[in-house]
Amino acid sequence: MQNPNPPEPSFEVPDGALEARIRTIGADVFAAMAACPPPSLFSKKGAFAKIMQWSLADPAFKTQLFRFVDVLPALKTNAEIVRHLQEYLGDQAVALHPALKAGLAASSFAPALVAAPVKANIVSLAQEFVAGETAAELVERVRTNTARGLATTIDLLGEAVVSEAEADHFLARNLEVLDTVAAALAVESTPAASDRGPGDRVLPRLNLSVKISALTPDVQPADPETSLAALKQRLRPILRRAAAVGAFINFDMESYRLKDLTLQLFRSILEEPEFHAAPAAGIALQAYLRDSERDLRDLVAWARRRNRPIGVRLVKGAYWDYETVIARQRGWPVPVWTRKAESDASFERLTVTLLENVDVIAPAFASHNVRSCAHAIAQAERLGVDPRAYEFQALYGMADELKTALLQRGSRVREYCAIGELLPGMAYLVRRLLENTSNEGFIRRRNLGEASPDELLINPVHLLARTETTPDVGPPTPLAVEPTAFTNAANLDFAVAAHRERQARAIADYAAHRLGRRWPCIINGRAVADRPLRASVNPANPSQIIGYWAEGNAADAEAAVAAAVAYFPEWRRTPVETRAGYLDRAADLMEARRAELNALLILEAGKPWTEADGDTSEAIDFLRYYAAEMRRRDRATLTQRVPGEHCVQRWTPRGVGVAVAPWNFPLAILAGLTVAPLVAGNCVIIKPAQQTAVIGAVLMEILLAAGVPPGAVHFLPCSGAAAGAHLVAHPRVDFVAFTGSRRVGCEIWARAGQTLPGQMNLKKVVCEMGGKNAIIIDDDADLDEAIPAVLHSAFGYAGQKCSALSRLILLDGIHDAFLERFLAACSTLRIGDPKHPGTFINPVIDDAARRSILAFIEKGRREATLAWQGTLDEACAASGGYYVPPTVFTGCRPEHAIVREEIFGPVLAVLRARTLDEAFAFANDSDYALTGGFFSRSPRALARARDEFLVGNLYLNRGCTGAIVQRHPFGGFRMSGGGTKAGGPEYLENFLFPRVIAENTLRRGFTPPEE
Ligand SMILES: Cc1cc2nc3c(=O)[nH]c(=O)nc-3n(C[C@H](O)[C@H](O)[C@H](O)COP(=O)(O)OP(=O)(O)OC[C@H]3O[C@@H](n4cnc5c(N)ncnc54)[C@H](O)[C@@H]3O)c2cc1C
Repeated sequence: MQNPNPPEPSFEVPDGALEARIRTIGADVFAAMAACPPPSLFSKKGAFAKIMQWSLADPAFKTQLFRFVDVLPALKTNAEIVRHLQEYLGDQAVALHPALKAGLAASSFAPALVAAPVKANIVSLAQEFVAGETAAELVERVRTNTARGLATTIDLLGEAVVSEAEADHFLARNLEVLDTVAAALAVESTPAASDRGPGDRVLPRLNLSVKISALTPDVQPADPETSLAALKQRLRPILRRAAAVGAFINFDMESYRLKDLTLQLFRSILEEPEFHAAPAAGIALQAYLRDSERDLRDLVAWARRRNRPIGVRLVKGAYWDYETVIARQRGWPVPVWTRKAESDASFERLTVTLLENVDVIAPAFASHNVRSCAHAIAQAERLGVDPRAYEFQALYGMADELKTALLQRGSRVREYCAIGELLPGMAYLVRRLLENTSNEGFIRRRNLGEASPDELLINPVHLLARTETTPDVGPPTPLAVEPTAFTNAANLDFAVAAHRERQARAIADYAAHRLGRRWPCIINGRAVADRPLRASVNPANPSQIIGYWAEGNAADAEAAVAAAVAYFPEWRRTPVETRAGYLDRAADLMEARRAELNALLILEAGKPWTEADGDTSEAIDFLRYYAAEMRRRDRATLTQRVPGEHCVQRWTPRGVGVAVAPWNFPLAILAGLTVAPLVAGNCVIIKPAQQTAVIGAVLMEILLAAGVPPGAVHFLPCSGAAAGAHLVAHPRVDFVAFTGSRRVGCEIWARAGQTLPGQMNLKKVVCEMGGKNAIIIDDDADLDEAIPAVLHSAFGYAGQKCSALSRLILLDGIHDAFLERFLAACSTLRIGDPKHPGTFINPVIDDAARRSILAFIEKGRREATLAWQGTLDEACAASGGYYVPPTVFTGCRPEHAIVREEIFGPVLAVLRARTLDEAFAFANDSDYALTGGFFSRSPRALARARDEFLVGNLYLNRGCTGAIVQRHPFGGFRMSGGGTKAGGPEYLENFLFPRVIAENTLRRGFTPPEE
């Protein structure tokens, strides 16, 4: 992907004569449209019109109604339909007429009476936008269009696929449509007027639009080479068939994430000799993208270079809300224009470029906006472009009057006809409804009379001069708690080529030049190197030694504690601003070394790229967040306002502590456990996990480089036996910040309870342990969302996260359907060395982990049914890496070991629940309570989950991993931990004592003035 923030274009104002011409054409088009019947959706009569009126008048009704339409295909019985209708429209926020509300409430008594007509109405609403369900119906539609003068392009409903079987089915449907329509057209000799191009040449009458996300489940912008190979495999048969039957293939444009891949696919497949001359092909470009001008220039240059005429469909773009929300959530630059008029102006600039290149480009202007169309016509006139050399396109069911008006002017017009089953096509209906009701959209403003034709014809550049700029990106605003000035670090977007290349270089560089270094213990700034050296290895290739670390012993532990105790008074007195400044500087250093840190996480911890990058981001977040939080706490807070006495609370650090971290988030968790107490004024001894001690050493290096004084932080890699247990039990250690296994956590907890001679404080343990996390899938869940989320939650980083999903609870009604799609989707996961960007499942951390997980798999085979197991290819076997085949067991029962015990690997146990009560009971029936997930589209069931699903972090309609600092303070209870929340506002208090200071301010009967 290109830089989403190219220089701002200049929005040139067309000259007066041209602008006048646009107005004249626009006025003529409006006049012709006025003579047509109004669209049924906006007419005064009929059920649709009523629904639209309510939707437009009441945003709460609109949201609930569209959500109901979205869930309808998943509802199997009348009772289910009625229940959802009641839950959505009975919502208090919806201002429904009281009589209707009463009727809705009573409808449970006769569900069929209500459900049947509701369903029928929504299906017929879908029919307004879907041109037919079968190829035969489509042929009929093409005939009707031809008679009207319209050309047609066909779109098969159905987008993202989750398995190869689904992609195969999509391919077969495309081929079938090409064959059926081609056969029908072969016997219909007369093309539509719009099928005739320059010089009356007949253009390909069969025109098919394809979405690439439906061609393979394995689209990963981070790994374009493999994705392109998979895409081409299914695209070639379509292009071949199209060439054979003389069809035109258009590549639709989807979300920004796929934009560069789509362009690359388009160009590279057409460069294959087989497709050099045929079929005719085109691609959609979205004017709302800031990149589009450059993309169009590149495309034109390519077409000229290759001497390959192509079509370009110019659209504004259908995913505006999605793109802005996702970019803001992730802290990425917003790739789209943020003012509607900017997209309109961009559309006009791109229109001119297209018209200037009609010798190699066949432009199609896909807009329902009269101004955009009038502008294209006027510019074509100015440039002397043959009116048959370009066309307009509009969607089936929308802007019919515009199609008629343009045809009457002699323009070519093509209708975009979506076909497919109506119920599964509801997502398409929801998009069309949103488009029809969008506040800023042309359709709504015109049809509701919210703007006059004159206003609708205003030059967007003039509008821009009048409106304020909105910020392109801003952090999500924290709510409920007093906000802390903090912004999450943005992950790298590996869809951006420059990011991918930088990461690949960093991995190669690390492997070539930095392996094998010896890392000493560091006590009071002094390197202690003459200790037994332990090797840390790459889990994907254990013969590759990442580095050696010197193992500290009990005497080193003593020295570290003594140095920490000695420095503590000074560190406590160091101003918070200074301490916090060190953390900010360390965060900056990490950001600067991000690719290198990621490389180390990939090599030493076996993390796939995005997981490694997430780990680095989280470490940076902990540094910046705890620095900000400590600044916020660095003041006395009044406990009560009372005359004559000044009462405040302040915080003081506990003393000396040990940070004991796990290997699964070797940078983030270690950084969090270290810097939270550090910034609070405590001295900290770092004990990293042995498997990832090199990452720990690099963290230490960064902290010292950032200026943290050597007395405040000490680095002591060691085993529990060598020094760890000694440290934890030490009487001068005031706290232990621990994340790791339940066994070790409970041991530390017990040990901390013993007060030893010389001990100054009761030892505090901040203890975060494992999880046996469950996701429940309700009968009405959206499987397109749930399946990828379950895959990520269960198998991301090979299930080695305490938040990972290990118990999947399927409601009876969806059990079989879910499993069928899910198990097919599992086979698409790529298992391999995480140094390759497309790897999804990595090896586990070491051989002991591998053996333990394999033993659980054996147990699972005895207890339940092995439903799916991934295959390890030869490369995995030959590498000697610690690979475990990802495994899914079905038919599991709550008492099974694989359901009760934490496995910490890619093993998923599936349970079937008869009711929601039973599902919640299963979910809560665990020693652990860390994360949980619930997929449902029933407002009432979601409300129940909020109350009844007892875990520290509950995720609704999303996966259960990937907590983000401040947004999702993280931690659980029961055997998952002590209820503390890392990355949350109270976390620092674990490392502080509150002190209250009360001062009598009454002196001889008077008080200071402020009292
Ligand atoms: C035949 C056809 C094919 C299509 N194919 C594709 C495709 O392949 N890919 C695709 O993405 N879309 C496609 N679309 C959908 C198309 O993008 C939308 O229908 C179109 O954006 C609506 O634009 P308009 O000019 O008709 O309406 P208008 O009302 O003039 O424009 C609405 C559009 O403006 C933009 N917008 C809205 N608010 C803002 C804002 N605050 N800041 C910046 N921009 C804003 C959005 O793109 C919105 O859709 C296609 C449409 C047609 C008619």
